[in-house]
Amino acid sequence: MSYDKIEVPEGGAKVSYDEAADELDVPDTPIIPIIHGDGIGKDVGPIAQDVLSAAAEATGHDIEWMEVYAGESAREMYDENLPEETVEAIREHRVAIKGPLTTPVGAGFRSLNVALRQTLDLYANVRPTYYLDGVPSPMKAPEEMDMVTFRENTEDVYAGIEWEAGTDEAEQVRSFVEDEMDFDDVMHDGDIGIGLKPISEKGSKRLVREAIDYAIENDRDTVTLVHKGNIMKFTEGQFGDWGMEVAEEEYPDDEVFAAPDSLWEEQDEVDIPEDAVMVEERLADAMLQWMQLRTDEFDVLAMPNLNGDYLSDAAGAQIGGLGIAPGANFGAGRCLAEPVHGSAPKRAGQDKANPTALILSGRLLFEYIGWDDASTLVRDAVEDTIESGTVTYDLARQRDDAEEVSSTTYAEAVIDRIEDLA
Ligand code: NAD
Repeated sequence: MSYDKIEVPEGGAKVSYDEAADELDVPDTPIIPIIHGDGIGKDVGPIAQDVLSAAAEATGHDIEWMEVYAGESAREMYDENLPEETVEAIREHRVAIKGPLTTPVGAGFRSLNVALRQTLDLYANVRPTYYLDGVPSPMKAPEEMDMVTFRENTEDVYAGIEWEAGTDEAEQVRSFVEDEMDFDDVMHDGDIGIGLKPISEKGSKRLVREAIDYAIENDRDTVTLVHKGNIMKFTEGQFGDWGMEVAEEEYPDDEVFAAPDSLWEEQDEVDIPEDAVMVEERLADAMLQWMQLRTDEFDVLAMPNLNGDYLSDAAGAQIGGLGIAPGANFGAGRCLAEPVHGSAPKRAGQDKANPTALILSGRLLFEYIGWDDASTLVRDAVEDTIESGTVTYDLARQRDDAEEVSSTTYAEAVIDRIEDLA
């Protein structure tokens, strides 16, 4: 496809995907679309791009970046928030990275982030949460945190099926539920807002499959399905049942062990095959406790959308917060890397925000295209830089032994470290 306003780099080629073999074909110089983002995205986007280029080059790779536009930059150029050619460019090139996009508060404005994830069917939001030496944390042993959360990205209450109190639609749904479905005594009198929570077999199973495959490929011991199935039996509970079905039916027993009755019983007594990944269930409320009290017992968590939103942020807090928390969205043969944080308008344009989360999101993209050497180098360089005390304001204010530097100076220090380590 030719684009109207997107400039396609002259060198480089597209990453492609063989669906039947479920394999990516990565050219020597892939073209990678990038959205720098709104707010602090404008500060951290270009410099994170420089850091990722430096790591690629230092490990013998090459990237052709292709800037694409969404949010404020798209409004300026196209007079719309999410141009069709941005979505097409990401769809065609298979892998991309984006900074944060602002969602103005108010009616009629759909989150661009949710729109991108749903349009491209990026069904798994993956956030590795691990401790970096030198980052201030509220925990006594923050280094015990090394979890990867898999959050279902396309359904649950995020499907956006809801009706405002006082509208005809809300009244119609209420009368249907009360009269036709015989729930006549559960709704309160007066105006009532109503939402639907769809959770499907397809959506649940493909997410759990991703989590189990990840655990197998990365030598993790457990996959924990986190839900609230004791209360919401036919949505959250069903997620747990479908997830356990995947574990039981789709993998050999010596590779994946589906723990029986794990919601209610300790698994210590069970004979788990050596080297098998154990798949178990936990209730979401209990899991929020275990995450803090028994941090080192958990590896990979797989969750419906809302639980995933809560639990991944809670896990991020344990290792020092938003400025360093990376993420990526995956679909079939697709990856859109993006940090957990938003556009933090209060800090925008000051060259102060922490680019680490966006830089580390780039690691996930590197791993996805098989550039593990570049990914490891990024992590080592970031960790060394933070440990040496060169940090942005968010980390500096929690440490006595660190020097606060601008976003740009910090990124330059990471690039220097990349060159030293390579
Ligand atoms: P936010 O993550 O933008 O900021 C919350 C606070 O965290 C900031 O005030 C700042 O103190 C701190 N912070 C965040 N990122 C930081 C960084 N890189 N370095 C240093 N400090 C950092 O969350 P918010 O204020 O709730 O949201 C602002 C806007 O971003 C909203 O429009 C929201 O919809 C949007 N948002 C977008 C995404 C996304 O693009 N995926 C994610 C979350 C929020």
